[in-house]
Amino acid sequence: MIQKMASHIVGYPRMGPKRELKFALESFWDKKSSAEDLQKVAADLRSSIWKQMSDAGIKYIPSNTFSYYDQVLDATSMLGAVPPRYGWNGGEIGFDTYFSMARGNASVPAMEMTKWFDTNYHFIVPELGPDVNFSYASHKAVDEYKEAKALGVNTIPVLIGPVSYLLLSKPAKGVEKTFSLLSLLPKILPIYKEVISELKAAGASWIQFDEPTLVLDLDSHKLQAFTAAYDDLESTLSGLNVLIETYFADLTAEAYKTLIGLKGVTAYGLDLVRGAQTLDLVKSNFPKGKYLFAGVVDGRNIWANDLAASFSTLKELEAVVGKENLVVSTSCSLLHTAVDLVNETKLDDEIKSWLAFAAQKVVEVNALAKALAGQKDEAFFSANAAAQASRKSSPRVTNEAVQKAAAALKGSDHRRATNVSARLDAQQKKLNLPILPTTTIGSFPQTLELRRVRREFKANKISEDDYIKAIKEEIKKVVDLQEELDIDVLVHGEPERNDMVEYFGEQLSGFAFTVNGWVQSYGSRCVKPPIIYGDVSRPKPMTVFWSSTAQSMTARPMKGMLTGPVTILNWSFVRNDQPRFETCYQIALAIKDEVEDLEKAGINVIQIDEAALREGLPLRKSEHAFYLKWAVHSFRITNCGVQDTTQIHTHMCYSNFNDIIHSIIDMDADVITIENSRSDEKLLSVFREGVKYGAGIGPGVYDIHSPRIPSTEEIADRINKMLAVLETNILWVNPDCGLKTRKYAEVKPALNNMVAAAKLLRTQL
Ligand code: GLN
Ligand code: ZN
Repeated sequence: MIQKMASHIVGYPRMGPKRELKFALESFWDKKSSAEDLQKVAADLRSSIWKQMSDAGIKYIPSNTFSYYDQVLDATSMLGAVPPRYGWNGGEIGFDTYFSMARGNASVPAMEMTKWFDTNYHFIVPELGPDVNFSYASHKAVDEYKEAKALGVNTIPVLIGPVSYLLLSKPAKGVEKTFSLLSLLPKILPIYKEVISELKAAGASWIQFDEPTLVLDLDSHKLQAFTAAYDDLESTLSGLNVLIETYFADLTAEAYKTLIGLKGVTAYGLDLVRGAQTLDLVKSNFPKGKYLFAGVVDGRNIWANDLAASFSTLKELEAVVGKENLVVSTSCSLLHTAVDLVNETKLDDEIKSWLAFAAQKVVEVNALAKALAGQKDEAFFSANAAAQASRKSSPRVTNEAVQKAAAALKGSDHRRATNVSARLDAQQKKLNLPILPTTTIGSFPQTLELRRVRREFKANKISEDDYIKAIKEEIKKVVDLQEELDIDVLVHGEPERNDMVEYFGEQLSGFAFTVNGWVQSYGSRCVKPPIIYGDVSRPKPMTVFWSSTAQSMTARPMKGMLTGPVTILNWSFVRNDQPRFETCYQIALAIKDEVEDLEKAGINVIQIDEAALREGLPLRKSEHAFYLKWAVHSFRITNCGVQDTTQIHTHMCYSNFNDIIHSIIDMDADVITIENSRSDEKLLSVFREGVKYGAGIGPGVYDIHSPRIPSTEEIADRINKMLAVLETNILWVNPDCGLKTRKYAEVKPALNNMVAAAKLLRTQL
């Protein structure tokens, strides 16, 4: 019998160490396997996770953190809040209805998806209006509790808390402006009560409510909703230990006060990795007799915990909350980290010793709890200390020249010497473009054949010469096509890249890559972020060969194509031993070298993609200005050294820019292309309100995310709407993002119509 320590895991990745769930889901969706097959894979994953935590000695093991798609959609199912268009007729919600909401079906599109706080996980947004008839329609939480119990594991069932559920919802169509989501609280609480009662009856002694919205900027009305909700649940919860789990940021003093005042609650889960101030709140006031679930092991990253440092934090906390009341936990669900280091066959032992994925973090949590109980595993702690020391002193981590150069950037400003309108004039003299110039965002369709060539080159199955020949042929094809379509500023099509961050990471020093370090992004989709472990530098040019090869094939301007520092940073696992901005400045310097080498090679237009600048915005408004300042500064560093005649483009994904428009202007690019195809109005309204924008701008004129081919009239119509707001001489015409995922059969006619629309309007202006 394993002795259980005061240890807890907030949640665990569902996908499996080798993405078993992904493959089972996709095979089921393709009708290649049955519902039973899928259920079997899921049950096996759940049981192995529970067993793993139990074997590690974890006392508080979560259940209902598994999901076939998304935990918020699970809550929507539990509450029977299915939007009417899915034609659900009551009863227990099955795969049909569930996956229709998640992914759409032949006749109805999917529900909206959005980012889960500042992670790269996306959840299905509940749509709620005054007419929803809530009913207890998915018994998943209770079923999973019972399933674990039958396996001999008494778990803490986890539910999304009622207030967070409502605050993460959106009002249904038709009531967007008028409806108060929180007014639904009295309607959903009865369902929560049914679930709680069933869990109690099944033998649960603990329950966990995830209320992460408590870390957001909340007004007193919203805070009040938490108080009201738990007041109402108090009698149903009696007899249970109740854990309220918060994560991803500090709590404000008011939120903390609300939290510790909640009735019926016996334990508080706090993120102590991102919440350094939360620690002070706890130290200054912690309610007697309550449990603190101290989230000291980072759920958002892949670094091994500094056990000695965590242990001393825990010791301090023990003095405040009492020995019996302190539980060691993760900072948030481990959903946001990679699954198991055991499957990393390509990382060397030194780097591996610095890392901990979800499976290793479970062991760390328990080791800390054991140490608190006076049974410190000295060997484990000293191995950890040795790894921490090796990471600090390894020459692979530190590059003094890079550190010096990056430090010198702090506090200074970097801008091109001339203002944007003078630069645009100088560029126009050189480039001689028509009005409404046409271009694309960079990538062209990636065929199976192309992927095969890259794969075989990587596996040393074809020679470098053959690889170069194949890629050159592909570039030639793309260049010829663009000339044929009569596009004005060409791209090489990015055939040599599988991913816009990985491609650069692989050529920069300081990056490592995993083989199985997948993290769920949405549904069955996972991403495999690079790991930035050391000072970043660029040993040699990365794109110059391909860009100049492409330029040699055409007399038209060829855009050089780079990924910007902020996007590389935001889409990687970032080192935790220096501030993010320092890492970002280092990447910026590496990209700056590349920009200048492209310019020297005769590339006159260079696009530096910052697809992910917007998504790096911190959760709390008070931190926005600081982030935007160093992010925008990093971008400017990359191109502050080019001549006036070199035209710098940037591209951004996602349509919600209005709140950061001044930062976008401050990037001081010559041309920005932005994804906007689903909401022209929103973007244009900023300019209508009089924001002055002197640089070139290309709001995407059609949606590349859909296979639909837009007509010339439709595109012309959209350009006309933009012309009503933006000046003719700054408007560019382009799709809204790269064409990598589309087929040539869609891309050719769509671009053809796009160019035709631009030409048509040129004759009318
Ligand atoms: N240049 C990249 C491409 O076209 C940009 C992709 C993106 O914005 N996500 O693929
Ligand atoms: Zn994009």
